Amino acid sequence: MSRTLIRGIGEFFTGDLAAPVAPVRALAIADGRIAALDPDPAGHWDLVIDAAGSAVVPGLIDGHVHPVAGEWTPTQDAIGWVGNYLHGGTTSMLSAGELHTPGLDYENLSADLVTSLAEVTAATVGRMRPAGVKLAAGTALLVPGMTEAHFDRLAAAGARLVKFLFYPLTANPAEARNYVRWSRERGILSKVHTGGVSRSGLSQVCGFEILSWLKPDIAAHISGGPIPMSDADLDRVIDETDFALEICSSGNYGSTLRAVRRLAERGRLDRLTLGTDTPGGTGVIPRGMWRNILFLASVCGLSPGQAIAIATGNTGRAHKLEEGVLAPGRPADLAICGPVEGSAGTTLADAVAHGDLPGISHVFIDGVAVVSGRSRQTPPSRLRPVMQCCTRP
Ligand SMILES: [Zn+2]
Repeated sequence: MSRTLIRGIGEFFTGDLAAPVAPVRALAIADGRIAALDPDPAGHWDLVIDAAGSAVVPGLIDGHVHPVAGEWTPTQDAIGWVGNYLHGGTTSMLSAGELHTPGLDYENLSADLVTSLAEVTAATVGRMRPAGVKLAAGTALLVPGMTEAHFDRLAAAGARLVKFLFYPLTANPAEARNYVRWSRERGILSKVHTGGVSRSGLSQVCGFEILSWLKPDIAAHISGGPIPMSDADLDRVIDETDFALEICSSGNYGSTLRAVRRLAERGRLDRLTLGTDTPGGTGVIPRGMWRNILFLASVCGLSPGQAIAIATGNTGRAHKLEEGVLAPGRPADLAICGPVEGSAGTTLADAVAHGDLPGISHVFIDGVAVVSGRSRQTPPSRLRPVMQCCTRP
């Protein structure tokens, strides 16, 4: 059994919105999972890290990405995007549809084609863990005419999500509701594009009226992706529905502020999830999830712990992942980080409250250090953790 001890923790963010910070000073990892908080330090450790007062946060979960093939994205002619996001602290990602596959004709998608595309993506990028990142792919772009057999195929492929994006919802409400039900019966979550037309020019406009009867598991980018629904619709979605609500980097800042304030006022931040909605027209944003957290904490009035918990535990829970919360038994996906030299904050919490990006020194996935010593995407942390190998009892 491989055992790792992280000690000298200065700030500990749990990822649990109900109790987002805790006075934890050490963490034990065994066989890829968190074994204990504040463990007895005696005994043999394969790896010991003195965090030197750094913060430990759960690995960020990007609830809305658009993969195509490996680490290549044709939308911005970029390669290596997943590894760059890892260096921005993201350890898990969920595909919101593989629509950027070159040559895909959005106006002539058949039930068999979208199902086959999801199967192929699940069986390629969805199983390869690019750069070590847990990437759930194989998210079918729903079209009319699908049968339960198509959903059986998606379930067999291990699909976690299906997406209403190009689907003509207002023309087929009964079929669309069947799709939500057939998905749920197979343990697959349904996500729906909301707001105005997307970059494709072909997505459905979706606001309160559709969401009120569709009742998906997750309403995607409610503050815009890129165009938000109307303010009145946004208020009604928050007040009169109960499913998870996602905010993405692709959105409208004014609508994001409106949505977060309203959810906080109603005590319903538990519904909020985060994603980048990239790669896409918004770009490739390695630090995108941190930028979401910083906006929520420095502009929208949330505490740093709340903002981090929304980017981790909330987003994981909405997508039925066990990742996102740092508690015994959970996967040891986490980042060690701290304030950057020159930041307004002397602690990570102070820096985040001010809107200052943290410096990431280490990222672990399943207990393995996949970023070690220095992120290539953030400035260095002012605090310098020290790795030591192999203590003996
Ligand atoms: Zn999207």
